[in-house]
Amino acid sequence: MAHRCHDYRHLSARWRAVARESGFASRTLCEASGMKLSYLRSPALADDGGIYLSAGIHGDEPGATEGLLSWATMNRHRLAALPLLIFPCLNPWGLTQNRRTDEHGIDLNRCFHNDRHPTVAAVRRIVGNQRFDAALMLHEDYDGEGVYLYEHRRSEQWGDRILDAAATAIPRETRRRIEGRRANSGLLTPRFSPSVFEKIGHPEAIWLHLNGCTRSITFETPSEFALEKRIAAHRAAIETLVGLAC
Ligand SMILES: [Zn+2]
Repeated sequence: MAHRCHDYRHLSARWRAVARESGFASRTLCEASGMKLSYLRSPALADDGGIYLSAGIHGDEPGATEGLLSWATMNRHRLAALPLLIFPCLNPWGLTQNRRTDEHGIDLNRCFHNDRHPTVAAVRRIVGNQRFDAALMLHEDYDGEGVYLYEHRRSEQWGDRILDAAATAIPRETRRRIEGRRANSGLLTPRFSPSVFEKIGHPEAIWLHLNGCTRSITFETPSEFALEKRIAAHRAAIETLVGLAC
């Protein structure tokens, strides 16, 4: 039997409890594969700026969905006062099946350049033209040997501080190249290359970057490490980013 972290109903029920205790309701994003997707928009989020958090766009990365929930649970009494837009799980079918893609074999994280995918279209509609101060996309990598992140930014670099905080749970990556890109102790700051993304499709992070987000960060934990450590690393990454943004 799959680990409980792949139980989408269980995840949703715990998010509903967090929303209730934080004093604002979660809202319906859309339906996919017969499952309801939700998102949270805190009362403190204005029409511009704020923080975008998302997890579970790849279903085989449960450290990310559990990490985001764990952070929200620990901070439920101050969530309403923080300017947050939260997508707890963008690919519930994948989470249930422990698969990266949706049930049609589509990688949602290559679909943000248009409205063809219904889940992506719903996210794009809710975000509109909002230019976030910071966006954090939570992921995991089965080839990972430590924590690492990609940062696209229009202002000072936060990546090192986020990685140092996460390293209290899991050390920073030591590989010099990750996914074909140069890395410095887990910090990847690739230059945006339109031609690359024209070929593969836009990831969530690139769409947010092009939408005017000040810092768009994709954070990764190594999925072969113990789940509790991965959850702690995600929690530390979120806590640090929120602390820097607020
Ligand atoms: Zn991923």
